[in-house]
Amino acid sequence: MQQFDVVVIGAGAAGLFCAGVAGQRGLKVLLIDHAVKVAEKIRISGGGRCNFTNRDLDPRAPHKHYLGENPEFCRSALARYTPADFINLLQGAGIPWHEKHKGQLFCDRSADDVVQLLLRECAAGGVTHWQPCAVRAVRHVASLAGGTTYELDTERGPVQSHSLVVATGGLSIPKIGATDFGHRLARQFGLRVVTPRPALVPLTFDSSAWAPYAELAGLALPVKIEAEPPAAAPAPAPAPAGDTADGAPKRPRGKSQHTGMAFLEDLLFTHRGLSGPAVLQISSYWQEGTPLHIDLLPGQDIAAHLAEAKQQSRKLLSKELAHLLPTRLAETWTAQDPAWQRPVAETSDKALSALAERLRRWTLTPAGSEGYAKAEVTAGGVDTRELSSQTLEARAQAGLYFIGEVVDVTGWLGGYNFQWAWASAHACAMALTPG
Ligand code: FAD
Repeated sequence: MQQFDVVVIGAGAAGLFCAGVAGQRGLKVLLIDHAVKVAEKIRISGGGRCNFTNRDLDPRAPHKHYLGENPEFCRSALARYTPADFINLLQGAGIPWHEKHKGQLFCDRSADDVVQLLLRECAAGGVTHWQPCAVRAVRHVASLAGGTTYELDTERGPVQSHSLVVATGGLSIPKIGATDFGHRLARQFGLRVVTPRPALVPLTFDSSAWAPYAELAGLALPVKIEAEPPAAAPAPAPAPAGDTADGAPKRPRGKSQHTGMAFLEDLLFTHRGLSGPAVLQISSYWQEGTPLHIDLLPGQDIAAHLAEAKQQSRKLLSKELAHLLPTRLAETWTAQDPAWQRPVAETSDKALSALAERLRRWTLTPAGSEGYAKAEVTAGGVDTRELSSQTLEARAQAGLYFIGEVVDVTGWLGGYNFQWAWASAHACAMALTPG
């Protein structure tokens, strides 16, 4: 039977990086993936340009950009491998990159630059690759010397290792190889798993309720979007004016993700519901059955605009509204109420004030989401209480590590999920020891 110091299962962002770092530390590493192609998620990420990290990450306050049952869990790993560290790695390899808004860093050329870099790091560490190769079974056996050994039955035969690193990611995008392998393996070893759910995902509405808006598919506009805390949770204190102007949410209280959140981002109408950065971000916090509140004209005094228009204009209300909103949306919006389908000068103050209020606080309850087929990430995963935040090793199972998205750590849109993959992989790789 072939022997390795470490077997890493999953050759995605976290697995490749961990294998390369461990190999370069002198460990004998085997990297296994069941997919034909390596790191498909990196390749399709960031619209093909891979938003590989985010400069605005503050490792001292991970709850600002990460959620999970304990958002503070990722503090140690994020503090020891920072966005600047990954930028240095890219720069050392001569990979050009640029910053988009809100600290998001992307490759200039293609996400494949990151994939090739990680493969070169693995080659430099002498990592052995078995791909495609399915893992059929994993066993833990105590060695004669009193240490631990993992035995794996794989499509390419049995293999033994001192340590086993699980980097099989979340459930998003099954068609490119996502599986629940990591969650099942955690349960096999008695570790708890926080119920997984799709996150960073478009939200959908009942077709009859959505019918008036379906024709707006493709339309985008900047909004402020808020999710409600579930009834049982205490509501957060109201944010002072301008608190969310940089898109930062109202700060969650304590460890729970069950708090009201707000984002200032672009909203995109789709045939079945809503998407765009605003909705992807809020989807990670949205609880089924609860409403969302959308301000379609954030920062604008809509009532004052309409009152002024009433004094000065003879146009239809929809035409006046089209000065503030995209024309198609203004028309669809005013079609909802006969009182809004007249010249603005003839519209009652009551109707104008109802219109202003509805635009400022459009309340709607999604029926669900587009699910794992469209979700960028999976929230939930291996319970962080089961793992060391320093090393990502299972507390009660020596030599077994979980890194990346398989863990109950979920980042915001904007490069935070890859930074968690790099940081957790690095923390683990630095802790691994020879067998
Ligand atoms: P993955 O990268 O998913 O790797 C898991 C690996 O495990 C895969 O290679 C898979 O084949 C393998 N595997 C799974 N099951 C098994 C099994 N049973 N046996 C063997 N191997 C197995 N995040 C960002 O920060 N920035 C972005 O720009 C960004 N864009 C994204 C765009 C899309 C469309 C999607 C879907 C996600 C995006 N993400 C982005 C999220 C990011 O891709 C993931 O969070 C990140 O890849 C997680 O890394 P990971 O190594 O934990 O898992």
